[in-house]
Parts: sequence; C-alpha cells; structure tokens
Amino acid sequence: MSDKASGHEPVDGTSTVTPLIQATNIEVVYNSIILAVRGITIQLGKGQTVALLGPNGAGKTTTLKAISRLITPEGGEVSKGELTYKGESMLAWDAYKAVKRGIVQVLEGRQVFPTLTVEQNLLVAAYSNKIRRSNIKSALEKIFEYFPRLKGRRNTRAGYTSGGEQQMLAIGRALILEPKVILLDEPSMGLAPLVVEEIFEIIGDLSQKESVSILLAEQNASIALRYADYGYVIETGRVVMSGPAATLREDDNVKAMYLGIDESGLRQEFGADTRRKERADVFAM
Ligand code: ATP
Repeated sequence: MSDKASGHEPVDGTSTVTPLIQATNIEVVYNSIILAVRGITIQLGKGQTVALLGPNGAGKTTTLKAISRLITPEGGEVSKGELTYKGESMLAWDAYKAVKRGIVQVLEGRQVFPTLTVEQNLLVAAYSNKIRRSNIKSALEKIFEYFPRLKGRRNTRAGYTSGGEQQMLAIGRALILEPKVILLDEPSMGLAPLVVEEIFEIIGDLSQKESVSILLAEQNASIALRYADYGYVIETGRVVMSGPAATLREDDNVKAMYLGIDESGLRQEFGADTRRKERADVFAM
C-alpha cells in the first residue's frame, strides 16, 4: 500500500493534504424519498486506488454517481454533507462539468454501443472529448497498448465481443477521455476469474503509469483489496469499516464476511443467511 498524497489523514482540519475527492458525511436521496446513502465520508488521494466494498444495495453505486454527478438524471440528489474536488465544492456541478474536470465513471454492466465496432466505440468517446484529429490515432494506440485484446477485435461489433472485452472497452472509453479520476463500478461483475485477474492487472498498471486515481466499487473484496491502497466497507448506506487495504485483508470480520475465510483459515461459502445476520450484528451502529 502506498501512502502517496495519503488523502487519509483526519477530516478535522489538521490535514495538510487536500484529497482529490472528498465526500464528507454525504446523504443521497432518490426522488426526495429514498435515502440510499446515510452519511458517508470517504477520501481519494492523488494516484490512489480506493475500494468501496459491500453487499448489494449498500450504496456503492450511488456514492460513485454522486461524485460523477450522474445522480441528478436518476432523480437523486446529495441532500446533506459536502462533496469536493481539489477542495472545490462539486455539489452544483452537472455530469458534463465533472467529465470536463477529469472525473469519469465506468458504469456497472459494461455499457458499450453494441452495434458499433470496438474502434467506433472508442472514436465516439474521443470525439466527445474533442481530441484533435491528428491525436486520435495515438490515443487509440495507447488504449490498444493497455488492452491488446481490443486491438485484435477493433473491427468487431462490440455486441459480439466477450464480457471481458466489453469491460475492457468500457474502461478504454473512459481512458480516452484522459481522466484524472476513474470511478469504476463492479468491473468484475459476471466475469470468469481469469478475466477478472487480467482486468485488475491492467487497472493496476493504469493507476501507476497514468497517475490516474481510481475509486472502485466491488463486491469481490478479495481482488479489490489486492489492488487497492485503501478500502471502505459500506453497508446500508454507511461506512462501517475503513483502513489500508493490507489491514482490511487481515481483519477477521472482513475475512469472515467479505473474503469468505473463517478462523480456521478455510474458505467458506459466501452469502449464507446466517452470515448476513452475523454481519448485521457486528456492524450494527
Ligand atoms: P449493487 O451492487 O447492487 O449496485 P450498491 O451498493 O451499488 O449495490 P446502490 O445501487 O447504490 O447499491 O443502491 C443503494 C440503494 O438505493 C438501494 O436500496 C437501491 O434500491 C436504491 N437505488 C439505487 N438507484 C436508485 C434509483 N435510481 N432510484 C431509486 N432508488 C435507487
């Protein structure tokens, strides 16, 4: 774990480092009625990879969308708390402004244009970023260097590529926007373990070489904590635990509830009702 530009000093005014993204005690409400996030405080430092972990419906996607500002078109709003980028309030921003400032979300479920080819999907993103024509070829080549599999499929319709290739394409489209922050929602979802490894290897590479900061929502805590610097466990709209990824990996509660390993060191089936009950008890606030 690197403590680069830590971004994880206390949020009490004593910190000398301004995190890139700072959410302080945010609440998010959908349609003025559904309280999906109930006071979350998280930080993302420059060059860091930070994981948001937790079960279905915990509020991970909502937190990402609050930051990318995609929450507004969904009928949601940050009803309490503060959200800043480099110390500047983002609450009045729309999603377009967030992208212009370098904050790009890769949505859950590999949202690509299925009838366009892989290359056309990338070009659409490049044009939307107003990349100069003379720079488009090198921008594409850069994506293909990170994702060699996409190069071989560049003329294939995205809808005919594999799930892993579509996830790579979704990340590639974000990367072509030259982001400072990538918000990645469940990149492992529905993919075979080997493909997940391949994608996380590339994400790790990206964060190092491009000095892009990554906020990652994942249910697969095992892989997320191997690649992240820091993690937050979110349950029912609240942060119930946080710490350096290496510390979380060794934490008995995290091991038992998110990594599926019991005291004997044996890997257990995740998701049994009893476990869910225990988890609720342990984290009850
Ligand atoms: P998942 O992995 O299933 O996406 P999550 O941790 O990302 O889970 P969210 O998708 O953020 O959780 O959902 C948090 C809560 O907000 C849930 O109760 C969900 O039903 C609700 N919610 C999410 N999106 C909307 C929406 N557009 N309108 C109303 N409620 C929503």
